[in-house]
Amino acid sequence: MHVPPLIEKKRDGQALTTKEIQTLVEDFTLGDIPDYQMSALAMAVFFRGMTPAETHHLTEAMMHSGRVLKYPEGSPPKIDKQSTGGVGDKVSLVLAPLLACDDVWVPMISGRGLGITGGTLDKLESIPGFNVNLDEKRALKQLEKIGVFMIGHTHDICPADKKLYALRDVTGTVPSPPLIVASVMSKKLAENLDRLVLDVKFGRGAFMKTKKEAEQLGEAMKEVGESMKVKTSYLLNPMDEPLGRNVGNALEVAECVEILQGGGPADVVKLIVDLAEKVSKTPRAQFEKRLKNGSAWKKFISLVYAQDGDATLVENILDSHRAPLVQPWPAKSAGTVKRMDAELIGRASVILGAGRKRTTDPIDFAVGFSQIKKIGEKVDVDEPLFMIHARNERSIVNITPLIEKAVDIG
Ligand code: URA
Repeated sequence: MHVPPLIEKKRDGQALTTKEIQTLVEDFTLGDIPDYQMSALAMAVFFRGMTPAETHHLTEAMMHSGRVLKYPEGSPPKIDKQSTGGVGDKVSLVLAPLLACDDVWVPMISGRGLGITGGTLDKLESIPGFNVNLDEKRALKQLEKIGVFMIGHTHDICPADKKLYALRDVTGTVPSPPLIVASVMSKKLAENLDRLVLDVKFGRGAFMKTKKEAEQLGEAMKEVGESMKVKTSYLLNPMDEPLGRNVGNALEVAECVEILQGGGPADVVKLIVDLAEKVSKTPRAQFEKRLKNGSAWKKFISLVYAQDGDATLVENILDSHRAPLVQPWPAKSAGTVKRMDAELIGRASVILGAGRKRTTDPIDFAVGFSQIKKIGEKVDVDEPLFMIHARNERSIVNITPLIEKAVDIG
């Protein structure tokens, strides 16, 4: 395919045809379109957008870039959740095993870190041995056994999103509604679900800055889902401060362990139960009970074990990933926390090494932030607003201009 005319067409604000979109996705998946051309096209889509029909065709083409999962006749309902991405958003790690305590299947295909937001796969891989690359046969066997898997897109399942996702992560082309719709929904539709709940974020640390934009995105995804016979709902959730108290891969797994053992920050627990209630027929109180009585924790441990993770290391995950420097960031005055800027904390965590600056960058599982104060909490002068977990002094120097601007105390 000759790609430059398509880049020019989109750059000039024209719609691409179904055939053009299909061929583009097929050739990109085969490796026949270089990354620089696909990145240029993604940037043109970022600026010019796509019509609902184009978005639909892109989603379908990406879903069909690989296989759509098939299940045995009479198997339990298939349900899942996906977030549009947030800072400190570790919900999936708890929600997937929590949902799987019921007689349902949770075939979760997730992504890596994207822009300033962390990714479920990177977080899971901080558990020593955890394998997110199961093939379809093994993944289905696991569903039959424990009702849940958590994997990434493979060369078999949604390979187009796997490639485009990695490019968007490092080319400033993430916050584009049609690209988000196609990315989220192609993965979820490849799962062949009965029900899906979407956690659509808005605010400083989200790709959609306003509630209205988030609602439009939620509606667009719901429309695509319903048109493919998946009962799709969404919740709109603010993302102005990080979710929970930890940001960074192993640090977030540690927070999930707390939640799965009946504790953890109230905002994350509430969101998990809100989403569970939205996608399931089980009463809310039952989910709360399963977080308290160890059932969700047990399911999580069986998931780790099934996917080759060292379940004995999960409870003390920070022993496996301890940053050489752990330093408090003291409050300059006493008062109430008025702002804890999720975008700046997210950008700082990428600089520390929790995310990628290039597609090939490795993730540093140990770095990030912990004990982050929540908006509305009181602090004394010099009391830590958060702890910085860093690989070296230089990275703390690099994030200082960002974190100096991240907090307001009133
Ligand atoms: N999550 C995804 O899977 N894709 C996006 O584009 C954004 C969030």
